[in-house]
Amino acid sequence: MNEKVIMRNLDPNERSHTFEEVALGYNDEEALKEANRCLQCVNPRCMKGCPVNIEIPKFIKAIKEKNLEEAYNIILNSSSLPAICGRVCPQEKQCESMCVKGLKGDAIAIGSLERYVADYAREHKLNKTNRKPKIGKKVAIVGSGPSGLTCAGQLLKEGIDVTIYESLHKAGGVLTYGIPEFRLPKKIVESEIDNLKAMGARILLNVVIGKTITLKELEDTYDAVYIATGAGLPKFLNIPNENANGVFSANEILTRINLMSSFKEDAKTPIKKGNKALVIGGGNVAMDAARSLKRIGYDVTITYRRTMEELPARKMEIEHAIEEGIKFNLLKNPKEVLIDENYNVKGLKVALMELTDIDESGRRGVKELPNEYEEIPCDTIVVALGTMPNPIATENSDIKTDSKGLIITDGSLTNNSRVYAGGDAVTGSATVILAMEAGCEAASKIISSIKEH
Ligand code: SF4
Ligand code: SF4
Repeated sequence: MNEKVIMRNLDPNERSHTFEEVALGYNDEEALKEANRCLQCVNPRCMKGCPVNIEIPKFIKAIKEKNLEEAYNIILNSSSLPAICGRVCPQEKQCESMCVKGLKGDAIAIGSLERYVADYAREHKLNKTNRKPKIGKKVAIVGSGPSGLTCAGQLLKEGIDVTIYESLHKAGGVLTYGIPEFRLPKKIVESEIDNLKAMGARILLNVVIGKTITLKELEDTYDAVYIATGAGLPKFLNIPNENANGVFSANEILTRINLMSSFKEDAKTPIKKGNKALVIGGGNVAMDAARSLKRIGYDVTITYRRTMEELPARKMEIEHAIEEGIKFNLLKNPKEVLIDENYNVKGLKVALMELTDIDESGRRGVKELPNEYEEIPCDTIVVALGTMPNPIATENSDIKTDSKGLIITDGSLTNNSRVYAGGDAVTGSATVILAMEAGCEAASKIISSIKEH
């Protein structure tokens, strides 16, 4: 009774050639067994770890009572994207890290139970469109990623009209272009977006705020504006030959694979596929890029400056990558992209590193070993070193940003009293659930302000 019910996964040999979802979800029996492990604490520590404050014991109790509609309604009170959170929230660092059962054994698999309920709701068409009567106010949201969608959900519930502006040809932001199908199937994202549309959200695609329409024009048309443009601008290494043919940012490779299926022969914008890829970085995006390249036939190695212990990616994603045959080449610092006479990638020169003491980030530091280099042959390099906010929406506006390009806010509000901002555009690249928390917070500020005026 005390051991966690482990979610079944697709066999690694099978899944490393397909984009099918890896984690298979709980069946009814497994979900009930896991729900029955929950102690129904009177002071539930788990809730303190949930940024959107889901009433965790309550929804788990409803699962125990086999009342999944009730469980779904309880989750929906706090989250408009439960099928997504149940899959991509770093639960082990949030709600589950606080669960009392985790003090002496396995924490309750809260995320897996949330996913189970959300999937049941979708399969049984329980989706709700609970909305108060319209109050004659309208808000523009710039960006249709997790923060923008969450903000939209909260505003719609209060009877406020919402128009979401998306620069790409599909809604969902990082949920659509960034997180691969095998971790987050696109039909799940589409279904959550369809729920918002059923509540009345208007989503306008292929509109670049700052180019097609200015922020000022939105301000003049709407009662408030929420900027949730995320952090989609990739960071690069600034090493020689980084512009060579065969070097990609993780953003580009993931967008091409996820959104444009560019690995298919009949794709409109095909990528010239190589054989041996090096992915530089150790976060979740590096794992996503490596595992995506593996699925389209590459032999993939991840290079990282530190060791396995310091990899910042989720443990589960690292384990999945290893199971799928991704190799790791650690304690290496990229110095130069090696090229052939046609400016195509033929390898990466790296410096060998060693660990030093724990630094201010709480991790072991690293330093290069003097004059120790290695050349790693490859034909494709993917740089996954994080992202920064894209400045297009705000660059010709009065909205203040800091030296890193992050929008400066005071509790969601920018220096302009009608413009709010949140998510990665304010904090820098973070998690889906933190972006959702910011969307929630901004919505409540917008609702109060709109109702006051
Ligand atoms: Fe846990 Fe995330 Fe669900 Fe909150 S939203 S209960 S943190 S999985
Ligand atoms: Fe259940 Fe753990 Fe939350 Fe207690 S802390 S209510 S055991 S999930």
